[in-house]
Amino acid sequence: MGNQITALIVAAGRGSRAGGERPKQYQCLAGRPVLSWALNAFLTHPKIDAVRAVINPEDSELYNEAVNAIARPDQAKLLSPAEGGSERQDSVRQGLESLVAHAPHWVLIHDAARPFITPDVIDRVVEAVGAHGAAIAALPIADTLKRAGDPDDRIIGETVARDGLWRAQTPQGFEFSTILKAHRRASGRSLTDDAAVAEAAGHRVALALGSPNNTKITVAEDFGLAEQLAQRLGPAQVDLRSGQWEYRTGQGFDVHRFGEGDHVTICGVPVPHTSGLLGHSDADVGMHAITDAIFGALGEGDIGDHFPPSDPQWRGTESRIFLEKANDLAHARGGRVTHVDVTLICEAPKIGPHRDVMRERIGEVLQLSKDRVSVKATTTEMLGFTGRAEGVAALATATVALPI
Ligand code: MG
Repeated sequence: MGNQITALIVAAGRGSRAGGERPKQYQCLAGRPVLSWALNAFLTHPKIDAVRAVINPEDSELYNEAVNAIARPDQAKLLSPAEGGSERQDSVRQGLESLVAHAPHWVLIHDAARPFITPDVIDRVVEAVGAHGAAIAALPIADTLKRAGDPDDRIIGETVARDGLWRAQTPQGFEFSTILKAHRRASGRSLTDDAAVAEAAGHRVALALGSPNNTKITVAEDFGLAEQLAQRLGPAQVDLRSGQWEYRTGQGFDVHRFGEGDHVTICGVPVPHTSGLLGHSDADVGMHAITDAIFGALGEGDIGDHFPPSDPQWRGTESRIFLEKANDLAHARGGRVTHVDVTLICEAPKIGPHRDVMRERIGEVLQLSKDRVSVKATTTEMLGFTGRAEGVAALATATVALPI
């Protein structure tokens, strides 16, 4: 049957509202062009048989860069790009015309500026297209809606009932021949999305549940939020199913001895105690163990290699610097730390009350959500050096995704 379900990624816009030297779909997001995120999501989805981008012919080199940023793109699935027009609607129509020879049964049309499209949203749209013939990803509106009485004076004219109102996202899926005809008919009329084109031709279009993360990058400010999302979601969001990442586990172990002081710093959190921990830096035994675990996963030696105790510049350093550097090293290799787990071993101080804030501190440094950071604590039943309260030990594992 050939390319039963084809994804058409619309990437021909000039993206002037987002600023920057290059169109927004070619600007970098967590080290990869924005377009490569959506391309990868559809290329790696098992229900999508073919993927074609619609681009401005002047951008063909930028397009190649975006494809090259994908680890092992499925070349059999990736069709050569089609040439787009000046308006989105023209680009979609030209993209659809370019698929006539391929004759897909269904087509999913997606905006390149929505990089965080997930496999489950694609699944839901595919399922709804199968059931209804046409469906879009969309979200029910949760905010109260106001219509300004006079658009210029910003005074509320009325509160609009939000019942039944949805925000349209992409992908938007249709029977190929139906949407092609609808777009041909709509040529010359300006409609804001492909569902509107189908509606104008009298077709019923279903709503499939989208995702709040499936946001569109429109203006320059959107990049800040998108970057945070990219860091948080990382490869787990986009690539987990792709087999293009290898997941490595590293371990770390560290001990620091008690000495003079009135608090200890563990996992970035100062904890009041009858003594302090001795060390060259701030003696943060937890962060040291995690740092070593990341170096271990990367096969990059240990914390002593990177920050020699003999080097005076690290004296009294906050250990988050070490952890940041290890995280940067994972990013420099195109990878991402996806999870860490640390066990702190001591009789005192009590770790329990500080666990949550420790998880937050570590998450801030590694740009991980809290559910990807674990802090546990145990005693050694008064046995050994930790049992004699001579110091604190820490064990850690880190999971790191690296491109194959
Ligand atoms: Mg240490």
